[in-house]
Amino acid sequence: MPKPVSEIPPAHRRLGDQSWQSRGACRGAAADDPDLFFPDADHFERVAEAKRYCARCPVQQVCLDAALENNDRYGIWGGLTEEERDPLHVSLENRLDYGRVEAALAGRDIHLTNAERRAIVRTAYVHQADVEHLARVLKVSSEHAERLLRRARREARHRRLAEAATPLRSHQGTAVPEATLGRAA
Ligand code: SF4
Repeated sequence: MPKPVSEIPPAHRRLGDQSWQSRGACRGAAADDPDLFFPDADHFERVAEAKRYCARCPVQQVCLDAALENNDRYGIWGGLTEEERDPLHVSLENRLDYGRVEAALAGRDIHLTNAERRAIVRTAYVHQADVEHLARVLKVSSEHAERLLRRARREARHRRLAEAATPLRSHQGTAVPEATLGRAA
């Protein structure tokens, strides 16, 4: 069963929450030097200077998550330059972090990728969660939550059928025994 939200560590930023910024190691520094976290990529010393702040920052992961979730493509966030973050931006929709799935099911209002939303529906189906709860977690209508649960049920059924058919398929896929090949004389 999903844990109650009080037992989930606040590792994930709530949607729209910017309060973490006041705990950043760069607090104040960026005001003194607005370009500090937007250095030219070729200015290695400037890049290293910004990264030194990030290396000792208590909210580094939250900062990186916020940049990815807000699609902030420019500047240094969470200790990574825009070039270092590029692959993470591209692959974000495939992120499947079960810590986020658990936190969302417990009621935490966080950013979820499509892969995480699908995992939530599967978990809700397996645990026979209340459709209204699923609707609240995913911020969809009850009707849509019902459709998602029906789809999860169909997918589970297809998986069971596929698993049951696996021995047959692997048999069909094996080489025909030599004795049955009808060799030419
Ligand atoms: S990770 Fe870096 S950019 Fe983000 S808040 Fe911390 S010091 Fe600032």
